[in-house]
Amino acid sequence: MTLRSATRDRRRLPAAALPATLLELLRQAGRPVGAYALLQMLSAKLERRISPHSLYRALGRLTGQGLVVRVERRDCYLATRHPGIAGARLFLICGICDAVEEKLSPRLDAQLAGEARASGFQVQSSVVEVEGACRSCADHGQLATTRPPTQADPPPRPRRLVCS
Ligand SMILES: [Zn+2]
Repeated sequence: MTLRSATRDRRRLPAAALPATLLELLRQAGRPVGAYALLQMLSAKLERRISPHSLYRALGRLTGQGLVVRVERRDCYLATRHPGIAGARLFLICGICDAVEEKLSPRLDAQLAGEARASGFQVQSSVVEVEGACRSCADHGQLATTRPPTQADPPPRPRRLVCS
């Protein structure tokens, strides 16, 4: 491919194509995906090299529209199941299989709003990330421990902080 044909290919990609394709890939994945994996998936899907800058610009657009949310503890992005809905967002993150369940909780939202109001704080957004074991892992006895850790316990194993 010559420089001229590469430039021509880039021109053929409409501005909205990158975010739309990214959203489609995230919805198909149905789980949080890290930026590096997204870059590979997007490049493969569009059959062209996508720059990290373009990826983050598309992610910024999708998160700004409320279609994609960031799971901070995993440094990943997820196509939200509740687009455009305000309120406290709860992520239940399984530390064993890395499944992430997204929930909206009006009770939690009301409680957080009440706590913030009592402090004279104005809430813009609320995200609560909870780590533990999902139902499937817990049912299969994969819970690492059923009691809170004590100082006598060995230090926890390092966890994978970045998802695929
Ligand atoms: Zn699990």
